[in-house]
Amino acid sequence: MFFDTHCHLEDPQLAADRPTVLQQAQSVGVERILAVALDSASSQILCTQKYSNGDPVRIYPTAGIHPNHAAKEPEGAWALVENLARGGKAVALGETGLDRHWHDTPFAQQQAFFIRHLTLARELDLPVVIHCREATEDMIVLLRRFWEETGPVRGVMHSFSGEESFAQTCLELGLLIGLSGVLTFKNAQPLRDLAKHLPRDRVVLETDAPYLAPVPKRGKRNEPAFVSFTGMTLAELWGQSIEETARQTTQNACKLFCPKEMG
Ligand SMILES: [Zn+2]
Repeated sequence: MFFDTHCHLEDPQLAADRPTVLQQAQSVGVERILAVALDSASSQILCTQKYSNGDPVRIYPTAGIHPNHAAKEPEGAWALVENLARGGKAVALGETGLDRHWHDTPFAQQQAFFIRHLTLARELDLPVVIHCREATEDMIVLLRRFWEETGPVRGVMHSFSGEESFAQTCLELGLLIGLSGVLTFKNAQPLRDLAKHLPRDRVVLETDAPYLAPVPKRGKRNEPAFVSFTGMTLAELWGQSIEETARQTTQNACKLFCPKEMG
């Protein structure tokens, strides 16, 4: 019933006991996981792994280079990501985006990589997984310009924790809003107030595991099973059952990442 739309399954913290992680996920009703790449190496692993229908949880890989990883990528990294994307295994590109919190990659280089992802996504008709940290203004300018000059791209603003006006802009641009464990944090009342009124057909759930574990697991290693805690918080906000919230957010995610499965 749940779709964890943002999980770094290849992170050593999760990869080490992957069978258990997947079993735990399945036991709370997680049926699908978007396994999000951070660099060319994880893109390669994710997009060349064999997935079978016998796995307890269906795993959908992405290909992409995180803004904070772009600077330390080897030469040819983008070409590799592009090849993998063209190979047809990746269901989305990313994560990509802009980050002014860390300074691992010069901002101009982040912008250049982000535009590469958007351009390729548009060409291949794939959605993008977008990361935005302390760069809201730059993000809006870049997205609006790209939309005007090149046309819209489908995607999700992942682990959203911005302001109402930013959410509004994302929705206007046709993006979905990804809600992570941040929704459950004690200090996140403004985000809960905002989430309450988001259009229900535009929201997806995610963990960002192994990071951002939701309450009551905050501070621990996050894992896909914990998406249920964020789901419970959202269900309360929306005044509906956890089942209905799971159904709606999974349907939204499938429409974006695996539309063929919807018939
Ligand atoms: Zn992430």
